[in-house]
Amino acid sequence: MRVKLFAEYQTKTNALSLFLITLLFCFLGSHLRIPAELSLFWPVNAIVAAVIVRHPWLHRIRYYLACFAAMVVNDTVFSGWAWPAVTLNIANLLFIIISVSMLVKHYLRDSDRRQINNALRIFPACLLAAFACASWGALAQDVGFNASFATAWADWFSEQFSTGLMLLPFLLTRNWRSFSFGELLSPGKWVPLLSVGVSLVVGAMIGGAGSLTFPVPALIWCAIVLPIPVTSLAILLTGITEIVLVSHGVMNIQGNDNLLSLSHLTSARLGVATIAISPLIVAVSMDAVRQLNQRLALRANYDFLTQLLSRSGLYESLKDEPFSSQRSVGVILLDVDYFKTINDNFGHDAGDGVLEEIALRMKKVAGKQGRICRFGGEEFAIVLFDARPEQLYQLAEAVRQSIAKEKFWLQGNTVTVTVSSGLAQGTAGEERDWHSVINQLISAADKNLYLSKRNGRNQTSPSFRTLRLASDVA
Ligand code: GH3
Ligand code: MG
Ligand code: MG
Repeated sequence: MRVKLFAEYQTKTNALSLFLITLLFCFLGSHLRIPAELSLFWPVNAIVAAVIVRHPWLHRIRYYLACFAAMVVNDTVFSGWAWPAVTLNIANLLFIIISVSMLVKHYLRDSDRRQINNALRIFPACLLAAFACASWGALAQDVGFNASFATAWADWFSEQFSTGLMLLPFLLTRNWRSFSFGELLSPGKWVPLLSVGVSLVVGAMIGGAGSLTFPVPALIWCAIVLPIPVTSLAILLTGITEIVLVSHGVMNIQGNDNLLSLSHLTSARLGVATIAISPLIVAVSMDAVRQLNQRLALRANYDFLTQLLSRSGLYESLKDEPFSSQRSVGVILLDVDYFKTINDNFGHDAGDGVLEEIALRMKKVAGKQGRICRFGGEEFAIVLFDARPEQLYQLAEAVRQSIAKEKFWLQGNTVTVTVSSGLAQGTAGEERDWHSVINQLISAADKNLYLSKRNGRNQTSPSFRTLRLASDVA
């Protein structure tokens, strides 16, 4: 059974779910704390923000209060802070409210195609949210813990900014469903991921400030060849690993000079945040290019009016058909009779309607047996593999009758529309691919179509008795 955590009109369930999610991640965040008061990672804010952006109806004061209550409960129970728990958590709430406000209205409105804009919005959203969060947090902390304001501000800001930038793209990715883990098995896909790991290890071994950027080329490689969800996961894990390595001194980015007053962990976080954005932008642009290619291919392979295969789509689909010189293939070429008269009498739009209806009837009769294609204008082709000559003839007749028998409704008139067909069948013989086999069969079918037209239209040529399976198409 699937438990639904959020539903638009279930206020209590929503508030309880948000409370529990916030409490859970506050608890985990608290236990990631290094001895100082601040956390190594404080993922709650970005996680709750992502939950609300994904369920925009949660963008209400009452739900923010539920999150706030969970944060205060967690700090009071596990850290024993009473008043600071209230003041400090306002900083967390600020991050959530500001980032959600900047992202929520675009998330639903933007289609998947505009993910590039979404990804680019995450950057300013995290920047502003982290700024506000750090300013409030450092002030509140100054009062409570006597830490230096600047240091506290830098800690809060760098942590929230980097955690937000690493987590939000991953959590807001929408196309997880179209992804299958099987895709990662090919070397072209896992080698870039392995390279990220190797560059992390090399970075840790060499050390120095530059070592943080070692995984960037590998991450960009991931962005080019892998789907966005995997890339954003790789970015997230790389960032987490680098921060952990720096905080434990395994990755020494400080060198020997101490010119910077920033702590090396703060510097690492800022570095990780800036590293995260470049592969993300590449990933999103690559995805946009892929989607555009898919749409263009779809447009080229399918006829817009009838939704049948276009001529190029037919040839493209033949690439998937196992080739063998022994296999027989048949072609039915159909042409609408006196179609020009339909256009002349009822207009071009009515003519289009007739073509659509013919396509529907063809799909109904022949859709399961062969590939149907709008060959051009008012001509259609059906390609049938491994069929006997009589099957080809019967199918052509079935299609012809389905069009001729039931009248068409054109601007209040019932009109009989008929088609003439020409058949051709053969095996590949000397030919090397289906493309050229079909081309030759279409020429042969066209000659037979001409016979049907000459003999009075609304018929199929050659008739069943004279159609023979040629040994090859030549
Ligand atoms: P025949 O029986 O000899 O095939 O006569 P016909 O009138 O069907 O043949 P002809 O080649 O003279 O005319 C075909 C017409 O089909 C001319 C062209 O304007 C029309 N046509 C081609 N494509 C489309 C289309 O997409 N929509 C519409 N409405 N008409 C089209
Ligand atoms: Mg024609
Ligand atoms: Mg015609």
